[in-house]
Amino acid sequence: MNFKKIGIVAAMPEEFALLTARFGAKSAGSVGPREFFTASVGGREIVFTCSRIGKVAAASTATTLVQSFGVEAMLLTGVAGAIGSQARVGDVVIADSLVQHDIDLKGVLGYQRFQIPLLDLSAIPADPNLTRIAREAAASVVRDGEYVRAVGELALREPSFYCGTIASGDRFINSAQEREELLGLIPGVLAVEMEGAAVAQVCAEQRVPFAVARIISDSADHGANFDFLAFLRQAASVGSERMVSEFVGRL
Ligand code: SAH
Repeated sequence: MNFKKIGIVAAMPEEFALLTARFGAKSAGSVGPREFFTASVGGREIVFTCSRIGKVAAASTATTLVQSFGVEAMLLTGVAGAIGSQARVGDVVIADSLVQHDIDLKGVLGYQRFQIPLLDLSAIPADPNLTRIAREAAASVVRDGEYVRAVGELALREPSFYCGTIASGDRFINSAQEREELLGLIPGVLAVEMEGAAVAQVCAEQRVPFAVARIISDSADHGANFDFLAFLRQAASVGSERMVSEFVGRL
């Protein structure tokens, strides 16, 4: 891929913790509350930052990466809750498309549920080339000894990876009812988180190719708060670092 500048985003400090040291990234200054770090890898500049949680934080971060740092492509990584029967804790889910599950202008000006006004998309497609690279990276991550050790007994079976729809919204999903509701409304949805579809909208509007790679921390049900925290403490840093390293190494 011939991008010269690539942005790498994680939402939470735990997910971000190992990235700058792994790539020897140096601070390139702050914009508002966010610090940006850069490293040169294989002739490319990589810009790393921690977006903070939620769609507004993620959209603001993606905009800064494009407008102030001139990134030409973007990867968002971090943890997510599993929806549906496929993905389990410890698996990796790569987005082929992303939906903002909390946008609803149904009945107003003829919009459908999930449709983003004026952009006229409900599911925003991720870039096919970056997504292919993210899938190859995910295939390595789930076999990686360091990752499998970090996940340990949190994963009840050997980790694997999936590609499908990721839903994003400004809500932590932690009940079977909410989980089933999302599954009913967004057929084939595999994971839920709080940033991906916001990054997707910014990238679609700015015509910047992007991919989203999420590690499953919980099942978005009654146990989600507990599972999420345990995963965050035990495996989120290593998982994000492994994912980004495998991705960057394949660009
Ligand atoms: N309780 C935490 C907030 C967690 S928000 C705190 O006080 O700091 C959850 C973060 O992990 C978000 O960045 C989101 O993208 C991701 N995530 C993981 N599991 C999720 C779930 N079940 N629902 C929504 N987001 C989830």
